[in-house]
Amino acid sequence: MSTQYDAVIVGAGFGGMGAAIQLKRLGYQNLLILEREPELGGTWQVNRYPGLAVDIPSSTYSYSFEPNPHWSRLFAPGEELKRYAEHVAGKYGLRELMRFGAVVTGAAWDEHDRHWRVSVEGGEVVTAKYLVTATGFLSQPKVPDIEGIDEFAGKVIHTTAWDDSYDLRGKRVAIIGTGATAVQLIPELTELAAELTVYQRTPIWVSPKPDYRIPRPLRAVFAALPPAQRAVRFAGSAVLELMMISGVVRYKQFRATNWVAEQFCRAHLHRQVRDPELRRKLTPDYSFGCKRPTFSNTYFPAFTRPHVRLETSSIERVDRTGVATAAGRTDIDVLVLATGFNLWDVNFPAFEVLGREGRDLGKWWRENRFQAYEGMTVPGFPNLLSLNSPYAYSGLSYFTTIECQMKHMRRLFTALADRRADVFEVTREANDAFLERMRTKVTDNSVFSLGQCATARSYYFNQHGEATLLRPTSTLSAHRDAARFPLSHYSYTSAA
Ligand code: NAP
Repeated sequence: MSTQYDAVIVGAGFGGMGAAIQLKRLGYQNLLILEREPELGGTWQVNRYPGLAVDIPSSTYSYSFEPNPHWSRLFAPGEELKRYAEHVAGKYGLRELMRFGAVVTGAAWDEHDRHWRVSVEGGEVVTAKYLVTATGFLSQPKVPDIEGIDEFAGKVIHTTAWDDSYDLRGKRVAIIGTGATAVQLIPELTELAAELTVYQRTPIWVSPKPDYRIPRPLRAVFAALPPAQRAVRFAGSAVLELMMISGVVRYKQFRATNWVAEQFCRAHLHRQVRDPELRRKLTPDYSFGCKRPTFSNTYFPAFTRPHVRLETSSIERVDRTGVATAAGRTDIDVLVLATGFNLWDVNFPAFEVLGREGRDLGKWWRENRFQAYEGMTVPGFPNLLSLNSPYAYSGLSYFTTIECQMKHMRRLFTALADRRADVFEVTREANDAFLERMRTKVTDNSVFSLGQCATARSYYFNQHGEATLLRPTSTLSAHRDAARFPLSHYSYTSAA
């Protein structure tokens, strides 16, 4: 059977678009991008809740080769990210490759025809030489398993499915969760709701947000003089790199930095909240860095408003009209779930991926440790680039990960072309050595094993208690490995 596409990319977010741009540059023009949502943008298409903004300085949260001089703030609001995604798709000719509302249900490597067979909801099967999964780490919304939640008769809104048509004004609102999403949303809800109850299980470290407007004249300078914006990007990246190395990767050597960061966040809380009991409830008991910290100037003050209540007793059940905890029951009209995402369960990867001899990637990961060479490729899965793999996430801005992966693709596909081959597969030895290196780094140096993370309930950790999301190296090392990994780490064969 002939193969329809050079590559099928699943996901039209920034990761999938970066992969498509790179494949086009490498000469692969016959691409199909399948996206389950009705539009492109990934996270920035799905998340539309009030207060949505990027929590990494915008100058670093973009492709380095496509700077955006138009960001209105240091931390741009969500709709600007969405507009930027649309701009990139238009400029790089990606939109015409995309098919929306296309839910991939499975993919299997066809050993006979040496291509991937990708099944789409509705029964269609498309074939491609290469499969790129770019479905995001934070893309499977988590609905908490709380007794009675299905019986609630009022409105339930998950933050990934915001209902713009629903008017929250004057309503009694409850929100479950105090992660980065809730930190952005809660101050907005306080403006709308008549009563707001926040159900917190684990507090979050929050530091002040240097959220400045970027004046128009400065934006004009960025547009006219790209090196000026590159310099700002470089400075921002350097700060993020420093935070990542000292706070997470090299905690052993720099643990004083985490202590300083904690004191900084405590002082922020102290300045904004006078009530010592409320402060105590809002103060985490785990080390800074175990869980993604966040920035906000408006989160803590929200709890000091008379119609806002912080509830820290655990939720016992939800009934038709309210939420019950050991401390009492609260009647509500609306239940907002800011409960985050499932990362490591049966929905990872986002659909069934079957490699050689029917090996199921998700099952194999769960039974044999989460692992992927350079966070991208897996032995037994030829011609698969799994962009949201264990140890893939490098640095604090997602764009670092994306650009390292683009570099890796360039080296890999160039090696394939040089050998007139078209099937690659990472060797078991290279994968094993990479896994061992990552595990040793996590164990010997990182905050995840040396800090106090037991009570953090962080999605950085998988169900076995291993921190398998972040790559525990500097981003410089990640870039270097992407550009120079030994070519012998892959086998290269030709379908012919
Ligand atoms: P999250 O960090 O996983 O937070 C989920 C929250 O829901 C936590 O407070 C969690 O409590 C709580 N929760 C979950 N299940 C619960 C249950 N059964 N009972 C009670 N509480 C429960 O998710 P998120 O806030 O959506 O943020 C995810 C990530 O998205 C962030 O870390 C960040 O990387 C990214 N993000 C980025 C932006 C941005 O850049 N604009 C904005 C928002 C989010 P526990 O901690 O106790 O589990």
